[in-house]
Amino acid sequence: MSHQNPIVDYKILADRKDEYLKFEGGQRLTWCEGCGNYGIQKALERALVLEGLKTSEVLFCFDIGCNGNGSDKIAGTGGYTLHGLHGRVISAAAGAALANPRIKVIASAGDGATFSEGPGHLLHAVRSNYPMVFILHNNENFALTTGQASALTRKGFPMNGSPDGVVMDPINACEFVLGLKPTFVARSYSGDVNHMTEVLRAAIRHNGFAFVEMLQACPTYNRVTSTAWFHERIQYLKSAPKTIEAARKAAADLEKKINLGILYQDKKSVNFLERLPARQGIKTALVDEVKAYDIRKLTEQFK
Ligand code: SF4
Repeated sequence: MSHQNPIVDYKILADRKDEYLKFEGGQRLTWCEGCGNYGIQKALERALVLEGLKTSEVLFCFDIGCNGNGSDKIAGTGGYTLHGLHGRVISAAAGAALANPRIKVIASAGDGATFSEGPGHLLHAVRSNYPMVFILHNNENFALTTGQASALTRKGFPMNGSPDGVVMDPINACEFVLGLKPTFVARSYSGDVNHMTEVLRAAIRHNGFAFVEMLQACPTYNRVTSTAWFHERIQYLKSAPKTIEAARKAAADLEKKINLGILYQDKKSVNFLERLPARQGIKTALVDEVKAYDIRKLTEQFK
């Protein structure tokens, strides 16, 4: 992908309007005015349509959080969604992705869920290289529960629950993931739907665990890092850094010059299922094999 001013192909979107409208679902969105979730959801729907996917070929997995309120407003016609436990969506999504690799699994969670509640799930998903996309909605707070600090909230920010300001340094999400030998790490922001669309298209095509950080506006509880604040600081990478060390350097600054784009991709990535010796040469998916077992005799014993 071109990292600078990506142009979304509106002709293709127009030609696939019916499929796009199926992803839209038709439900009224209930996020606050100016919330970055609107743009992220639109970019995801566009990316899926541009990649030629139908609603029946995608499973959307949502964590608890404001972004999770989109779970009944996407894939409304013939699609599949799962709304997981707080901080645990990655493990549920990974199970689905391993059971049925023919379905594209897209998991979404906030910074509170991912880095305060369930960072262990993220850690093992990255090192396992499960075949799925994970979208981090990073608005730097627990927004659904009215603005408490997460592990990604900036030092000194006064939040509900810590009105004198957060005293810890925040985790830099992309830097953290880059420390785990990932195969795909990207960053975009909710004020640029075209850029998010292109980053998500690349993530959808990736063979392995694709980690995408969306820097997200939350005008209700994060009045500092607004869309305007990001707009003054973002810059687009001309190309993806070649090494993880270079990617870590590119990801480091979240204050003055914030790099957006694919930070790192291993284009020869081999996903978890493909690495398993027991799955070599097997053409069926786990979901097919489960169907082959007749458990009626077993259940008879419990009558
Ligand atoms: Fe969006 Fe923040 Fe409102 Fe939640 S509280 S819907 S993240 S603006």
